[in-house]
Amino acid sequence: MVERFQHIQSQIRHATGIASRPRGSVQLLAVSKTKPASDIAALYRLGQRHFAENYLQEALLKQQQLAAFNITWHFIGPIQSNKTKPLASHFDWVHSVDRLKIAQRLSEQRPDYLPPLNICLQVNISEESSKSGVSIGKLPDLVAAVSALPRIRLRGVMAIPEPESNYAKQRQPYRQLYLAVQQLNRPELDSFSFGMSGDLKAAIMEGASMVRVGTALFGKRL
Ligand SMILES: *Cc1c(COP(=O)(O)O)cnc(C)c1O
Repeated sequence: MVERFQHIQSQIRHATGIASRPRGSVQLLAVSKTKPASDIAALYRLGQRHFAENYLQEALLKQQQLAAFNITWHFIGPIQSNKTKPLASHFDWVHSVDRLKIAQRLSEQRPDYLPPLNICLQVNISEESSKSGVSIGKLPDLVAAVSALPRIRLRGVMAIPEPESNYAKQRQPYRQLYLAVQQLNRPELDSFSFGMSGDLKAAIMEGASMVRVGTALFGKRL
């Protein structure tokens, strides 16, 4: 675990340098789905604070087990509209919002004692019908509508492109989305949740501010 963690950190530092971006401008999210709370605790002891989960029930259980830890929790999985209430009260960030109805419910259900919920809009940049996410064409209207919600803080976008081994091809969809967001001219959209274990460097070259790494940190999922 120590070695994997150090290796990922150095990969991030290296790519950030090659991209001529400020040191520390890319945050590591540890994707702990299917992994036990003990793995999260081990990484926490090494200094990791941001963890991301995909499955609500699993995440809530681990949050209970790790209640004594000062973890920032991110949700990155598909969202059913009847599951928004626990998301609104148990997470700091939700990256996978892809329609207005979900954002409205999260805003309504965000408890008063917490700050507005940070969200990213999930964008489908590979344009596959099977994947969730708003299309780039519909992004401007969704951004405008979500930005008006009182208990939401819209921070940026998340993308999960089709797996691709060619480095130049890995970069292309991220670049397209990054430019589309720049064109919206909203400086508050400063978060780009781009990149996983297999395409970290391409994502960082194209503006990732958060990379979501599972396998390369925790090992293969069963
Ligand atoms: C599982 C998952 C990841 C991490 O993927 P790895 O290839 O294990 O790094 C990142 N983002 C999302 C949305 C995921 O579901």
